[in-house]
Amino acid sequence: MTLTQEICNRLHEAALKITDNFCYGCYKVVEGDRCSDCFSDDFMRHLPSKYYDHPVASARLCNSSDTVDSRAGTPGPVRPVGVEYGTDWVVRHLLTTRLEAVDGEEMFEELLDECYPEVKIGNSVFSPSQVLKELDPIAFNIGVDENLQSLAEDGVLFEFDGDYYRLEDLEDLLEELEAEHP
Ligand SMILES: [Zn+2]
Repeated sequence: MTLTQEICNRLHEAALKITDNFCYGCYKVVEGDRCSDCFSDDFMRHLPSKYYDHPVASARLCNSSDTVDSRAGTPGPVRPVGVEYGTDWVVRHLLTTRLEAVDGEEMFEELLDECYPEVKIGNSVFSPSQVLKELDPIAFNIGVDENLQSLAEDGVLFEFDGDYYRLEDLEDLLEELEAEHP
């Protein structure tokens, strides 16, 4: 199993553990493997509100595109109620609310400026990143992507939905979640 697959599995396992079984037909959280009213075992995942009230999460919720339950929807500030099939959305919620995606441009700029000398013309001094970004923006953007991909291949970063997260941040988050739900 690759590191990426392993992290993916741990994320989905954590997402399963922190969520409850939810019967959409009866519209309730269900304890156990079957709904006591309709005996269905076709459950949605329900994300408890503490995952919205988490200090790191609530600071960022205003920018999130979380599922908003239409039935529970009330006018005023949007308070998302997480009910949806599958665990992808839970993983997405955890990553976007609890972690900060890396800034690929900034990382590539730092790399260029470490690898190449400054360019001096008369009294003007240009950083290599500035030169490449201004004069060959296409090559710059390709470099940004390639740098992110190679860091992901090296296990420094983890890619999800086009965003990259530091693996060490992700490990910390997973350990935190796994400790809450052993
Ligand atoms: Zn039911």
